[in-house]
Amino acid sequence: MRLKDKVSIITGSASGIGFAAARKFAAEGAHVMVCDLNCDLVDAAVEQIRTAGGSAQGYVMNVTDRASIDAMVADVKARYGRIDVLVNNAGITQDARLVKMTEAQFDTVVNVNLKGVFNCAQAVAETMLAQGSGAIVNTSSISGLYGNFGQTNYAATKAAILGLTQTWARELGPKGVRVNTVAPGSIATPILDTVPNNVLEGIKQACWLRRVGQPEEIANVYAFLASDEASYVNGATIEVSGGVSI
Ligand code: NAD
Repeated sequence: MRLKDKVSIITGSASGIGFAAARKFAAEGAHVMVCDLNCDLVDAAVEQIRTAGGSAQGYVMNVTDRASIDAMVADVKARYGRIDVLVNNAGITQDARLVKMTEAQFDTVVNVNLKGVFNCAQAVAETMLAQGSGAIVNTSSISGLYGNFGQTNYAATKAAILGLTQTWARELGPKGVRVNTVAPGSIATPILDTVPNNVLEGIKQACWLRRVGQPEEIANVYAFLASDEASYVNGATIEVSGGVSI
C-alpha cells in the first residue's frame, strides 16, 4: 500500500477526478478526507469508500470560504494529529469568449480555481512544515499549459497554478514538503457534460490515444505524487493528456 496511513485531504472529492482519487487513496491505505460543497454527495462518497473497506471522513466545505477550510483542518488535526497530503483538486469552468466573458464569470473562476488553492495550501502549510514532511498536489490543465478557446478565466487560473507550485516548491521543499502539479487533458467527468458532441469528437482526434481520459488515470498520478515513491519530485508539472501536445 503506497499511501498507508497517510492523512490526505482531497478537495472536490465527491465527484469526478476527486472522487476517483479518494477511492484510489483509500485503496492505497490512506485516511481520506472527502471535502466538497454538497452534503449528500459527500456522504455518498464516504459511504462508498467505507463499504469498500477504506478509511474516509466527510467534510462539507468551500475552498473560497476560509472559515470552512479552517474548521475542516482543525477537525482533521484533532482526529489524526497530522496532515500528510493535500490534493487541491476542486475546480470549475464558466466558459465564454473574451468579448463575451462577464466580470462575474472571471472573478468566480479565479476565486475557486486560484484563490481556493492558495486558501487550502495556506491552511495546511504550517502543520506540514512543523512535521517536516508533506505533499501538496495541485491541479492544472492542458488549458493552463497551452490556452484554450473560450477559457480566458479557466486557462489563466490553471496557468497560475504552475507559478504557485514552483514558488511553494522553493519555499516548502527545504523543510521536507514537496509541491507538484498534474495537468490533465480531457477527462470523462461532469465537467465535460457541457461540451457539444462535435467538439468532443475533435478533442478525441487531437489526442494521440484518440480518446478522452478516465478519472482513474489522473487519480493514479495524484497518488504517485502524494506517495514516497515521488520523494525526489518537487516543483514538477506532469501532463496527463494522452499526448495532445506532441
Ligand atoms: P467535477 O466537476 O466532476 O468535480 C469537481 C468537484 O469540485 C465537484 O464535486 C464540485 O462540487 C467541487 N467543487 C467545485 N467548487 C468547489 C468549491 N468552491 N469548494 C469545494 N469543492 C468545490 O470536475 P473534474 O473534471 O473532476 O475536475 C477536477 C479537477 O480537474 C478540476 O480542478 C478541473 O479543473 C481539473 N481538470 C479537469 C479536466 C477534465 O477534463 N475533466 C481537465 C483538466 C483539468
